[in-house]
Amino acid sequence: MKVMLVTGASRGIGAAIARAAGAAGYRVGVNYHRSEAAAHAVVGAIRATGGEAVALQADVADPAQVARLFEQADAQLGTLDVLVNNAGILASFRVDALDHAQLATVFQANVFSMFHCAGQAVRRMSTKVGGRGGAIVNLSSVAARLGGLAGGAAYAASKGAIDTFTLALAKEVGLEGIRVNALRPGLIETDIHDVHGGVERMKGLAATAVPMGRSGSADEVAQAALWLASPAASYVHGAVIDVAGGR
Ligand code: NAP
Repeated sequence: MKVMLVTGASRGIGAAIARAAGAAGYRVGVNYHRSEAAAHAVVGAIRATGGEAVALQADVADPAQVARLFEQADAQLGTLDVLVNNAGILASFRVDALDHAQLATVFQANVFSMFHCAGQAVRRMSTKVGGRGGAIVNLSSVAARLGGLAGGAAYAASKGAIDTFTLALAKEVGLEGIRVNALRPGLIETDIHDVHGGVERMKGLAATAVPMGRSGSADEVAQAALWLASPAASYVHGAVIDVAGGR
C-alpha cells in the first residue's frame, strides 16, 4: 500500500486530496494545524469506505513540528511515497499597510513550510540515500502569474516562490527517483475565500473572470493532484499545471 502525506488536509483542497487518495488505495496522513475535529472527520470518511488514514497535528511553518510530523508519519503510516504540500493561508492587505509580522506569517505558512516538508520527504525518498523514490506535489496558485486579487501581493508573491521552488527542487532530485510538480488552482470553492468576502462573492467573480464561467471544486483539483502523484504521470517533472477553468 502506497503512503501519501497531505499537509493542511482538514479542510478544502487538502481534505479533497486526502479523500481521493484514500479511495485510490493510499494509506493517508491527514495533517492539520487547528481544525482537529475536521481532520478526524476526513479520517473517518476514508475509513468508512474501507481506506486507511491517520490524523497528524503539526504547524508546518515550524521546522521542529515538521520533523515530528514526519517521524509520526514514519511510525503510523510506513515509508512515504507521496508528499502533497497543500497547507497555505490567504491574506488580504495593501503593501503600504502590512507589517513585518503579517508578511512573515504568510511566507512561513506558504513557502517555508514547503522547504521544511520537502526536505524531510527527500531525506526519506531519495534513491541516493537508499530510498525508493516518490513524488512531491506543491499547491501554488494562478495568483503566481496574475498577481492575485486586490490586497493579495504577499499571497501572490509567496505562490510565485512556490513555482520557482518547484522548478529548482525538480533539478535537485531528478536523478534521485523523485518527481516534483506543482498545481496552480484558480478560483476554488473553499473557506480560504473568507478573508475577502466568502465563497459566494468569489463565485460572482468567477462567472465573469473565468473563461469556463464558473469556479472550481476542491474535488476537481484533487483529481489533478492524484494524477501528478501517480505512475500515469511518470514523465511529468518540474511542471506547473493550471487547474483554473482557463483563467
Ligand atoms: P482552506 O480551505 O483555507 O484550508 C487550508 C488548510 O491548510 C486547512 O486544512 C488548514 O489547517 C491548513 N493550514 C493552514 N496553515 C497551516 C499550517 N501552518 N500548518 C498546517 N496546516 C495549515 O484552503 P484551500 O482553499 O483548501 O487551499 C489549499 C491550498 O490551495 C493552499 O495552498 C492555497 O493557497 C491553494 N489555493 C487555493 C485556491 C482556492 O481558490 N481555494 C486557489 C489557488 C490556490 P487547519 O484548518 O487545521 O488550521
